[in-house]
Amino acid sequence: SAKEHGKAGYCFYQPRMSEQARDRLLLSAELREALQREELVVHYQPKVALDTRRVVGLEALVRWPHAERGLLLPTHFVPLAESSGLIAQLGRVVLRQVARQLALWRARGLPLVPVAINVSLQEIQDGQFVTGLLGTLREFGLHPSLIEFEITESAAMKNAEHTLRQLRQLEAQGFRMAIDDFGTGFSSLSQLRQLPTQTIKIDQSFVQGAERNPADRDITEAIIALARKLRLGTVAEGIETEAQAAWLREAGCGTGQGFLFVPPLPASQVPALLLAERTPASSIP
Ligand code: C2E
Ligand code: MG
Ligand code: MG
Ligand code: MG
Repeated sequence: SAKEHGKAGYCFYQPRMSEQARDRLLLSAELREALQREELVVHYQPKVALDTRRVVGLEALVRWPHAERGLLLPTHFVPLAESSGLIAQLGRVVLRQVARQLALWRARGLPLVPVAINVSLQEIQDGQFVTGLLGTLREFGLHPSLIEFEITESAAMKNAEHTLRQLRQLEAQGFRMAIDDFGTGFSSLSQLRQLPTQTIKIDQSFVQGAERNPADRDITEAIIALARKLRLGTVAEGIETEAQAAWLREAGCGTGQGFLFVPPLPASQVPALLLAERTPASSIP
Protein backbone atom coordinates (compact mmCIF):
# COMPACT_ATOMS: atom_id res chain seq x y z
CA SER A 1 0.00 0.00 0.00
CA ALA A 2 0.96 3.66 -0.22
CA LYS A 3 1.60 3.80 3.56
CA GLU A 4 4.10 0.92 3.41
CA HIS A 5 6.02 2.65 0.64
CA GLY A 6 6.34 5.82 2.66
CA LYS A 7 5.50 9.39 1.83
CA ALA A 8 7.31 9.47 -1.50
CA GLY A 9 5.35 6.48 -2.80
CA TYR A 10 2.10 8.04 -1.68
CA CYS A 11 2.88 11.35 -3.35
CA PHE A 12 3.93 9.61 -6.58
CA TYR A 13 0.84 7.40 -6.75
CA GLN A 14 -1.98 9.70 -5.66
CA PRO A 15 -1.80 12.41 -8.36
CA ARG A 16 -1.78 9.74 -11.10
CA MET A 17 -4.93 8.15 -9.73
CA SER A 18 -6.79 11.42 -9.43
CA GLU A 19 -5.70 12.39 -12.92
CA GLN A 20 -7.27 9.19 -14.23
CA ALA A 21 -10.40 9.79 -12.20
CA ARG A 22 -10.59 13.38 -13.47
CA ASP A 23 -10.21 12.14 -17.02
CA ARG A 24 -13.05 9.66 -16.61
CA LEU A 25 -15.24 12.32 -15.06
CA LEU A 26 -14.48 14.73 -17.89
CA LEU A 27 -15.11 12.08 -20.52
CA SER A 28 -18.45 11.04 -19.01
CA ALA A 29 -19.55 14.71 -18.83
CA GLU A 30 -18.57 15.10 -22.49
CA LEU A 31 -20.38 11.88 -23.37
CA ARG A 32 -23.52 13.15 -21.66
CA GLU A 33 -23.42 16.27 -23.84
CA ALA A 34 -22.60 14.33 -26.99
CA LEU A 35 -25.61 12.10 -26.33
CA GLN A 36 -27.90 15.07 -25.78
CA ARG A 37 -26.77 16.54 -29.09
CA GLU A 38 -26.95 13.10 -30.73
CA GLU A 39 -23.34 13.51 -31.87
CA LEU A 40 -22.57 9.81 -31.84
CA VAL A 41 -22.48 8.11 -35.21
CA VAL A 42 -23.22 4.57 -36.28
CA HIS A 43 -20.98 2.62 -38.64
CA TYR A 44 -22.19 -0.54 -40.34
CA GLN A 45 -20.38 -3.80 -40.91
CA PRO A 46 -21.96 -6.29 -43.34
CA LYS A 47 -22.64 -9.92 -42.55
CA VAL A 48 -21.83 -11.99 -45.59
CA ALA A 49 -23.12 -15.42 -46.71
CA LEU A 50 -19.97 -17.57 -46.84
CA ASP A 51 -21.09 -19.45 -49.98
CA THR A 52 -22.35 -16.58 -52.18
CA ARG A 53 -20.65 -13.64 -50.46
CA ARG A 54 -23.84 -11.64 -50.60
CA VAL A 55 -24.63 -9.18 -47.84
CA VAL A 56 -27.32 -10.77 -45.67
CA GLY A 57 -27.30 -8.33 -42.77
CA LEU A 58 -25.58 -5.34 -41.18
CA GLU A 59 -24.25 -4.74 -37.69
CA ALA A 60 -24.53 -1.27 -36.17
CA LEU A 61 -21.33 -0.26 -34.36
CA VAL A 62 -21.33 3.04 -32.51
CA ARG A 63 -18.51 5.61 -32.79
CA TRP A 64 -17.95 8.92 -31.06
CA PRO A 65 -16.33 11.66 -33.16
CA HIS A 66 -14.58 13.52 -30.35
CA ALA A 67 -13.32 17.06 -31.00
CA GLU A 68 -9.87 16.50 -29.44
CA ARG A 69 -9.50 12.74 -29.26
CA GLY A 70 -10.62 11.80 -32.77
CA LEU A 71 -13.04 9.00 -33.65
CA LEU A 72 -13.45 7.02 -30.43
CA LEU A 73 -14.28 3.30 -30.61
CA PRO A 74 -16.85 1.73 -28.28
CA THR A 75 -14.24 0.17 -25.98
CA HIS A 76 -13.33 3.73 -24.96
CA PHE A 77 -16.80 4.80 -23.93
CA VAL A 78 -19.39 1.98 -23.82
CA PRO A 79 -18.09 0.62 -20.48
CA LEU A 80 -18.00 4.24 -19.23
CA ALA A 81 -21.60 4.73 -20.37
CA GLU A 82 -22.54 1.55 -18.50
CA SER A 83 -20.89 2.65 -15.26
CA SER A 84 -22.15 6.25 -15.37
CA GLY A 85 -25.81 5.58 -16.06
CA LEU A 86 -25.70 6.72 -19.68
CA ILE A 87 -26.07 3.40 -21.46
CA ALA A 88 -29.86 3.53 -21.84
CA GLN A 89 -29.57 6.93 -23.53
CA LEU A 90 -26.70 5.70 -25.70
CA GLY A 91 -28.90 2.78 -26.77
CA ARG A 92 -31.75 5.12 -27.65
CA VAL A 93 -29.47 7.35 -29.73
CA VAL A 94 -28.11 4.33 -31.63
CA LEU A 95 -31.58 2.90 -32.20
CA ARG A 96 -32.92 6.23 -33.51
CA GLN A 97 -30.02 6.58 -35.92
CA VAL A 98 -30.46 3.05 -37.20
CA ALA A 99 -34.22 3.49 -37.59
CA ARG A 100 -33.80 6.83 -39.38
CA GLN A 101 -31.17 5.29 -41.66
CA LEU A 102 -33.31 2.27 -42.53
CA ALA A 103 -36.22 4.58 -43.37
CA LEU A 104 -33.93 6.67 -45.62
CA TRP A 105 -32.58 3.63 -47.43
CA ARG A 106 -36.10 2.33 -47.91
CA ALA A 107 -37.25 5.70 -49.28
CA ARG A 108 -34.43 5.45 -51.83
CA GLY A 109 -35.74 2.05 -52.91
CA LEU A 110 -32.73 0.09 -51.66
CA PRO A 111 -33.12 -3.61 -50.83
CA LEU A 112 -33.03 -3.70 -47.03
CA VAL A 113 -31.37 -6.32 -44.85
CA PRO A 114 -31.81 -6.68 -41.07
CA VAL A 115 -29.62 -4.42 -38.92
CA ALA A 116 -28.19 -5.86 -35.72
CA ILE A 117 -27.85 -3.59 -32.70
CA ASN A 118 -25.59 -4.47 -29.79
CA VAL A 119 -27.32 -4.12 -26.46
CA SER A 120 -26.03 -4.25 -22.94
CA LEU A 121 -27.76 -6.21 -20.22
CA GLN A 122 -28.57 -2.94 -18.43
CA GLU A 123 -30.53 -1.67 -21.44
CA ILE A 124 -32.67 -4.79 -21.76
CA GLN A 125 -33.43 -4.84 -18.07
CA ASP A 126 -34.71 -1.27 -18.20
CA GLY A 127 -38.49 -1.41 -17.86
CA GLN A 128 -38.90 1.23 -20.61
CA PHE A 129 -36.79 -0.65 -23.15
CA VAL A 130 -39.47 -2.50 -25.09
CA THR A 131 -41.96 0.39 -25.05
CA GLY A 132 -39.38 2.91 -26.26
CA LEU A 133 -38.18 0.53 -28.93
CA LEU A 134 -41.65 -0.08 -30.33
CA GLY A 135 -42.39 3.66 -30.26
CA THR A 136 -39.29 4.44 -32.33
CA LEU A 137 -40.06 1.75 -34.90
CA ARG A 138 -43.65 2.99 -35.21
CA GLU A 139 -42.37 6.54 -35.71
CA PHE A 140 -40.27 5.44 -38.68
CA GLY A 141 -42.76 2.85 -39.96
CA LEU A 142 -40.40 -0.10 -39.57
CA HIS A 143 -41.21 -3.74 -38.87
CA PRO A 144 -39.43 -5.43 -35.92
CA SER A 145 -38.08 -8.15 -38.24
CA LEU A 146 -35.67 -5.53 -39.63
CA ILE A 147 -33.97 -5.29 -36.23
CA GLU A 148 -31.81 -7.90 -34.57
CA PHE A 149 -30.35 -7.63 -31.10
CA GLU A 150 -26.89 -8.93 -30.29
CA ILE A 151 -26.58 -9.86 -26.67
CA THR A 152 -23.31 -10.96 -25.14
CA GLU A 153 -23.50 -14.37 -23.59
CA SER A 154 -22.31 -13.29 -20.16
CA ALA A 155 -24.91 -10.53 -20.13
CA ALA A 156 -27.71 -12.82 -21.21
CA MET A 157 -26.92 -15.26 -18.45
CA LYS A 158 -27.00 -12.77 -15.57
CA ASN A 159 -30.30 -12.06 -13.81
CA ALA A 160 -31.77 -14.86 -15.88
CA GLU A 161 -35.45 -14.65 -14.93
CA HIS A 162 -36.03 -10.97 -15.66
CA THR A 163 -33.79 -10.98 -18.73
CA LEU A 164 -35.59 -13.99 -20.15
CA ARG A 165 -38.97 -12.31 -19.71
CA GLN A 166 -37.76 -9.22 -21.57
CA LEU A 167 -36.21 -11.32 -24.33
CA ARG A 168 -39.38 -13.37 -24.80
CA GLN A 169 -41.33 -10.14 -25.10
CA LEU A 170 -38.97 -9.02 -27.87
CA GLU A 171 -39.32 -12.39 -29.60
CA ALA A 172 -43.11 -12.15 -29.42
CA GLN A 173 -42.92 -8.77 -31.14
CA GLY A 174 -40.95 -10.27 -34.03
CA PHE A 175 -37.41 -9.08 -33.27
CA ARG A 176 -34.48 -11.36 -34.05
CA MET A 177 -31.84 -12.15 -31.50
CA ALA A 178 -28.25 -13.36 -31.58
CA ILE A 179 -25.83 -14.36 -28.86
CA ASP A 180 -22.65 -12.32 -29.37
CA ASP A 181 -19.08 -13.43 -28.58
CA PHE A 182 -20.27 -17.00 -28.05
CA GLY A 183 -17.84 -19.17 -26.16
CA THR A 184 -16.27 -16.37 -24.13
CA GLY A 185 -18.97 -15.80 -21.52
CA PHE A 186 -20.23 -17.97 -18.72
CA SER A 187 -21.76 -20.63 -20.94
CA SER A 188 -24.64 -22.63 -19.74
CA LEU A 189 -26.06 -24.99 -22.30
CA SER A 190 -29.39 -25.21 -20.50
CA GLN A 191 -29.77 -21.45 -20.73
CA LEU A 192 -28.76 -21.51 -24.37
CA ARG A 193 -31.71 -23.85 -24.85
CA GLN A 194 -34.03 -21.42 -23.07
CA LEU A 195 -32.96 -18.23 -24.82
CA PRO A 196 -35.27 -17.09 -27.61
CA THR A 197 -32.39 -16.67 -30.05
CA GLN A 198 -31.97 -17.62 -33.71
CA THR A 199 -28.25 -17.08 -34.11
CA ILE A 200 -24.92 -17.74 -32.43
CA LYS A 201 -22.01 -15.43 -33.19
CA ILE A 202 -18.72 -17.27 -32.80
CA ASP A 203 -16.20 -15.03 -31.09
CA GLN A 204 -13.31 -13.82 -33.18
CA SER A 205 -10.74 -15.24 -30.77
CA PHE A 206 -11.72 -18.77 -31.89
CA VAL A 207 -11.72 -17.81 -35.55
CA GLN A 208 -8.29 -16.22 -35.35
CA GLY A 209 -6.80 -18.75 -32.95
CA ALA A 210 -7.78 -21.75 -35.06
CA GLU A 211 -4.77 -21.68 -37.38
CA ARG A 212 -2.26 -22.06 -34.58
CA ASN A 213 -4.34 -23.65 -31.86
CA PRO A 214 -6.08 -26.99 -32.62
CA ALA A 215 -8.31 -26.56 -29.54
CA ASP A 216 -9.78 -23.33 -30.95
CA ARG A 217 -10.47 -25.15 -34.19
CA ASP A 218 -12.15 -28.07 -32.41
CA ILE A 219 -14.25 -25.76 -30.24
CA THR A 220 -15.39 -23.76 -33.25
CA GLU A 221 -16.41 -26.91 -35.13
CA ALA A 222 -18.24 -28.15 -32.05
CA ILE A 223 -20.11 -24.83 -31.71
CA ILE A 224 -21.19 -25.04 -35.35
CA ALA A 225 -22.37 -28.64 -34.86
CA LEU A 226 -24.23 -27.65 -31.68
CA ALA A 227 -25.92 -24.75 -33.45
CA ARG A 228 -27.02 -27.08 -36.24
CA LYS A 229 -28.56 -29.50 -33.77
CA LEU A 230 -30.42 -26.61 -32.12
CA ARG A 231 -31.44 -25.25 -35.55
CA LEU A 232 -29.60 -22.00 -34.91
CA GLY A 233 -27.70 -19.99 -37.48
CA THR A 234 -23.99 -19.26 -37.04
CA VAL A 235 -22.05 -16.10 -37.78
CA ALA A 236 -18.25 -16.24 -37.48
CA GLU A 237 -16.76 -12.92 -36.33
CA GLY A 238 -13.40 -11.43 -37.20
CA ILE A 239 -12.61 -13.31 -40.43
CA GLU A 240 -9.39 -11.82 -41.78
CA THR A 241 -8.05 -14.44 -44.22
CA GLU A 242 -9.35 -16.53 -47.11
CA ALA A 243 -8.09 -19.63 -45.29
CA GLN A 244 -10.32 -18.83 -42.31
CA ALA A 245 -13.31 -18.20 -44.57
CA ALA A 246 -12.79 -21.47 -46.47
CA TRP A 247 -12.38 -23.56 -43.34
CA LEU A 248 -15.45 -22.03 -41.65
CA ARG A 249 -17.55 -22.58 -44.75
CA GLU A 250 -16.45 -26.22 -44.92
CA ALA A 251 -17.23 -26.65 -41.23
CA GLY A 252 -20.81 -25.59 -41.99
CA CYS A 253 -20.84 -21.99 -40.81
CA GLY A 254 -23.37 -20.05 -42.88
CA THR A 255 -22.37 -16.44 -42.36
CA GLY A 256 -19.20 -14.47 -41.73
CA GLN A 257 -18.05 -11.01 -40.81
CA GLY A 258 -14.61 -9.52 -40.89
CA PHE A 259 -12.00 -7.27 -42.44
CA LEU A 260 -11.54 -9.87 -45.24
CA PHE A 261 -14.99 -8.92 -46.54
CA VAL A 262 -15.82 -5.41 -45.38
CA PRO A 263 -14.77 -3.41 -42.29
CA PRO A 264 -17.29 -1.25 -40.42
CA LEU A 265 -18.18 1.65 -42.77
CA PRO A 266 -20.04 4.98 -42.51
CA ALA A 267 -23.69 4.83 -43.60
CA SER A 268 -22.89 6.66 -46.85
CA GLN A 269 -20.92 3.64 -48.12
CA VAL A 270 -23.61 1.05 -47.41
CA PRO A 271 -25.98 1.54 -50.41
CA ALA A 272 -23.33 0.30 -52.88
CA LEU A 273 -23.00 -2.87 -50.79
CA LEU A 274 -26.75 -3.41 -50.64
CA LEU A 275 -26.89 -3.20 -54.43
CA ALA A 276 -23.87 -5.42 -55.10
CA GLU A 277 -24.32 -8.99 -56.32
CA ARG A 278 -21.55 -9.99 -53.95
CA THR A 279 -19.11 -8.15 -51.74
CA PRO A 280 -16.35 -6.82 -53.99
CA ALA A 281 -13.53 -7.27 -51.46
CA SER A 282 -12.25 -10.65 -52.60
CA SER A 283 -13.07 -13.68 -54.71
CA ILE A 284 -13.78 -17.24 -53.65
CA PRO A 285 -10.61 -19.31 -54.11
P1 C2E B 1 -18.90 -6.90 -31.14
O1 C2E B 1 -20.37 -6.72 -31.17
O2 C2E B 1 -18.39 -8.28 -30.89
O3 C2E B 1 -18.37 -6.30 -32.51
C1 C2E B 1 -17.31 -6.82 -33.26
C2 C2E B 1 -16.07 -5.96 -33.15
O4 C2E B 1 -15.03 -6.55 -33.94
C3 C2E B 1 -16.22 -4.54 -33.70
O5 C2E B 1 -15.40 -3.68 -32.90
C4 C2E B 1 -15.64 -4.65 -35.11
O6 C2E B 1 -15.15 -3.43 -35.62
C5 C2E B 1 -14.52 -5.63 -34.88
N1 C2E B 1 -14.17 -6.38 -36.08
C6 C2E B 1 -14.93 -6.67 -37.17
N2 C2E B 1 -14.28 -7.42 -38.07
C7 C2E B 1 -13.05 -7.63 -37.54
C8 C2E B 1 -11.88 -8.34 -38.02
O7 C2E B 1 -11.84 -8.94 -39.09
N3 C2E B 1 -10.80 -8.33 -37.17
C9 C2E B 1 -10.80 -7.69 -35.99
N4 C2E B 1 -9.69 -7.73 -35.24
N5 C2E B 1 -11.88 -7.01 -35.51
C10 C2E B 1 -12.98 -6.99 -36.29
P2 C2E B 1 -15.90 -2.29 -32.35
O8 C2E B 1 -16.70 -1.56 -33.39
O9 C2E B 1 -14.73 -1.59 -31.75
O10 C2E B 1 -16.92 -2.70 -31.19
C11 C2E B 1 -16.48 -3.33 -30.02
C12 C2E B 1 -17.63 -3.79 -29.15
O11 C2E B 1 -18.36 -2.67 -28.63
C13 C2E B 1 -18.67 -4.62 -29.89
O12 C2E B 1 -18.23 -5.95 -30.01
C14 C2E B 1 -19.88 -4.45 -29.00
O13 C2E B 1 -19.85 -5.39 -27.95
C15 C2E B 1 -19.69 -3.06 -28.43
N6 C2E B 1 -20.59 -2.09 -29.13
C16 C2E B 1 -20.48 -1.56 -30.35
N7 C2E B 1 -21.52 -0.74 -30.64
C17 C2E B 1 -22.32 -0.77 -29.54
C18 C2E B 1 -23.58 -0.14 -29.22
O14 C2E B 1 -24.20 0.62 -30.00
N8 C2E B 1 -24.11 -0.40 -27.96
C19 C2E B 1 -23.48 -1.25 -27.09
N9 C2E B 1 -24.06 -1.44 -25.89
N10 C2E B 1 -22.32 -1.85 -27.37
C20 C2E B 1 -21.75 -1.63 -28.58
MG1 MG C 1 -21.93 -7.55 -31.95
MG1 MG D 1 -18.75 -10.13 -31.01
MG1 MG E 1 -17.62 -8.03 -28.33
